[in-house]
Amino acid sequence: MWQASFPIILLIAFPLLAVGFALGVGYRKRKYKNRKVIFRLLKQVFDHTHDGVTITDPRGTIIAVNKTFTQVTGYSEAEVLGENPRILSSGYHDAEFYENYWQTLMREGIWQGEIWNRRKDGEVYLEWLTCKAVKDPDGEVTHYVAIFTDITEHRRQEARLEHATEHDRLTGLPNTANTLRELSRQIPNLQKRWCLMLVDIDNFRLVNASYGFAVGDQLLSSLARRLKECTQGLVARHSADVFICALPLTSGDDEGERGAMINRAKKYLSKPFSIKGRLMEFSFSIGTSTWQDASQSVNELLQEAELALHAAKSRGAGQIRHFTEDLREDRNPLILLQGLREALSNNELSLNFQPLVASGSRRIHALEVLLRWDHPTLGRIPPDQFIPLAERHGLMEPLGQWILEQSLKHYAEWQQQGIAPSRIAVNVSPLEFQAENFVDNLFSLLKKHKLNHEILELELTEGVFVQRDKETLDRLDALSSSGIHLAIDDFGTGYSSLAYLKHLPINQLKLDRTFIRSLPANEADRAIVESTLALCRGLKMTVVAEGVEEEAQADYLARKGCDLLQGYYFGRPADADETTERLIQNKVQIARVS
Ligand code: C2E
Ligand code: CA
Ligand code: CA
Repeated sequence: MWQASFPIILLIAFPLLAVGFALGVGYRKRKYKNRKVIFRLLKQVFDHTHDGVTITDPRGTIIAVNKTFTQVTGYSEAEVLGENPRILSSGYHDAEFYENYWQTLMREGIWQGEIWNRRKDGEVYLEWLTCKAVKDPDGEVTHYVAIFTDITEHRRQEARLEHATEHDRLTGLPNTANTLRELSRQIPNLQKRWCLMLVDIDNFRLVNASYGFAVGDQLLSSLARRLKECTQGLVARHSADVFICALPLTSGDDEGERGAMINRAKKYLSKPFSIKGRLMEFSFSIGTSTWQDASQSVNELLQEAELALHAAKSRGAGQIRHFTEDLREDRNPLILLQGLREALSNNELSLNFQPLVASGSRRIHALEVLLRWDHPTLGRIPPDQFIPLAERHGLMEPLGQWILEQSLKHYAEWQQQGIAPSRIAVNVSPLEFQAENFVDNLFSLLKKHKLNHEILELELTEGVFVQRDKETLDRLDALSSSGIHLAIDDFGTGYSSLAYLKHLPINQLKLDRTFIRSLPANEADRAIVESTLALCRGLKMTVVAEGVEEEAQADYLARKGCDLLQGYYFGRPADADETTERLIQNKVQIARVS
């Protein structure tokens, strides 16, 4: 209250003071004793107020300033007396501004507003100024009293606050709301078309979990910088590890231009990042949508890009997908998630088993367990669509436990029937592996089903192995020394190299099917496969080729010494009953040979 009314009190007080000061109104000691007291008090206020005060004569010549004036402007009283306040001019305002200022002052006797002025040292500052015309009883202006407050810092704080709420603290990029607002403003006015590109860091959670948040943060900052460098549009941080780029399309050939931009971005992002002194490579998934016409809102555009990103991610890491209408009919992840929570209790989940055959004998050496979800209305949903969802929403641990339990139960039954293969291979999600009691739970499950540890193989993705903290290594050692086999899945698609795998207790490597697909014709794939086989031989690791679909592939791989083969050629994943039949056949074959 006091603060708010203070300038008003000053405004009433200073004209009096000014009049007293400047005109030197005569008063006799006795007669005007009261006035003298008031004058002294006002002088105190004048000297000690936190507002700067300038008093000029009607022509604008400065006749008095207070101490705050000197503190704010840097000019001493002696330097400004006799000068015009123009010496403070910043040059930021045009003639019209001053014209308006004077006209208002003449007409209304007061002007209030913000004004940029310049201090003696050249620094420009912002002040809140109230200028009042002081008039004599005849209505003639005798003085002008200007009271001002330096609000530069206050404005800076406001700007900082605005920046903080509109921008992401880590990367300094605008946030989504801010960018969408900016886009909405630009889209209808411009003839340009826009492409919205969402860039998602693959397995970012693993980056954080493996290297710590400091590395994760540095990656986000570096990525933000790269995106700004390689795109000419707006870049914003959308969520933890997803960035939005709004790219203007100008050439008329949307598709070509979009493709070129995305390729450029992808190429730029695929270069190694220097993080904490180490060069690291990451892969990114990209979803895009193009603004079609004025009826489409920016939010709709974003939704489309999100659907495209989701579709890209469901096809694995490093994929690009542009929005097309059919994606709308695709399964809504939120509905899926809700269904997944109920799937376990509703008996909608089941296991399939796919054989891994020995390349020489072609008999079943192991079975890989593959999860299946038969949704009551949506039908069968592929695991690579719902497993990432389960991972993101904390459902993977209970789901993983259920898979392990069921797998061992089936294996124990086959063992009792005398038809079990040497091993059963279970996929373990990195998030499941990180669960605190993963190892203990596993040991007690094996015990419950009276199974040897050697019959179990865990298929871990490279994400788990990248993590080199003591806890992970201890866990791997505990599993391995207990007799459980460890396999690295989808080898060649992630970040790991054989160089460091050799220090880990891994028994088996599964070569991703992308390297197998074009065998034996493709020379580059042949080189990769053959050198991996040679290295693994040295490291005493067995190798499984995934996705073997043709005899020629099987034949080539067997010749090159690949130990195990898996793929549609030897059998598609099948349910427990069909697998029992397969195992019986397998047994018959073994019996026939021996
Ligand atoms: P994955 O571990 O690489 O599993 C092999 C995938 O390749 C399976 O797909 C299998 O059906 C498919 N496949 C096998 N042979 C061939 C072939 O000759 N050609 C082609 N084109 N594909 C072949 P599926 O069952 O759709 O599983 C996809 C992924 O979902 C798995 O990849 C795995 O990452 C994940 N997944 C499946 N079941 C589980 C599970 O129980 N737990 C966890 N954590 N992940 C699972
Ligand atoms: Ca697997
Ligand atoms: Ca695999």
